[in-house]
Amino acid sequence: MRLALVLAATVVALAGCTSATTTTTIPTVSATIPKPANAADVTAPPSAAVRECGDKLASSRPLNPMPAPGSMPADSTMAKIVARGKLIVGVDQNTYHMGFRDPFTGEIQGFDIDMARAIAAALFGDPNAIQLRAVTSDQRIPMLKSGDVDIVVRTMSITCDRLVDVNFSAVYYEAQQQVLVKKNSGFTGIDSLSGKRVCASRGSTSLRNIANSPAKPIAVSVSDWTDCLVMLQQGQVDAMSTDDVILAGMAAQDRFTEVVGPSMAAEPYGMAIPKDNVDFVRFVNGVLEQIRANGTWRTSYSRWLDDLIPGPPPAPPVPRYKD
Ligand code: GLU
Repeated sequence: MRLALVLAATVVALAGCTSATTTTTIPTVSATIPKPANAADVTAPPSAAVRECGDKLASSRPLNPMPAPGSMPADSTMAKIVARGKLIVGVDQNTYHMGFRDPFTGEIQGFDIDMARAIAAALFGDPNAIQLRAVTSDQRIPMLKSGDVDIVVRTMSITCDRLVDVNFSAVYYEAQQQVLVKKNSGFTGIDSLSGKRVCASRGSTSLRNIANSPAKPIAVSVSDWTDCLVMLQQGQVDAMSTDDVILAGMAAQDRFTEVVGPSMAAEPYGMAIPKDNVDFVRFVNGVLEQIRANGTWRTSYSRWLDDLIPGPPPAPPVPRYKD
């Protein structure tokens, strides 16, 4: 936005019998609303083609029996992690109550972080034997492929496309994609946003679903979900769209926004693990069995998500296994 302020002031001064006229010009002032770094309109929409891979939610069967903390099978992925002394986990630091940095303590906390700490506890007997690395949506798969992280626990949907590059645990959370708008905007969901600007993070399934929506909104991509909220607040986009749990966290931080519309897509979350480490997938699925059974999952849900998500707390997702 450019504000041009040109003020011409005429001053007539009378001094004795003489008069003088002075004109003052105030220079042009530009007010620029900063855009988040890397914000871009998506001009080439991601392919709408849907890859097939059978039952994408069927993961590898849990290890049985599960090894005790600190005594992992020799040469296993778990033994290597234990020898290193900490589990390295890719997480988010911007998603309120899933993976977010508490401004008072500086600690990254949330439902995803509790899940990650449960894996560390099962490996080491210590939930703090963990290093959390903040990653964007777009960095998740590259960080797994390069071995920079052992596992990603970061609002990550299981898809057939991603299964080409990584493995997933059984589902540990069931989200649905919706839309966040300013209250009283009149927008009711993605169908009401034809030709309007809708924000999502790069590398997310959300961005692809927006770009391929029959309503033909203009997809705008950013690095982090919080960038979308800022762009919505500044009027640079009309809406943002992603998983209900992420949007609920945004609405809790800005009471002038609301979540609207029906589900655009089911987004089942899995923990992503490098392709070769099937033993670790089995171990993680064993940990998920334990935390579903011993109440850890429900306790974490009620701590972080009861207040955000409308309705009674759900039961933990039922796992499916393939081998
Ligand atoms: N669940 C979606 C995904 O995995 C959106 C959430 C995100 O990117 O953090 O792409």
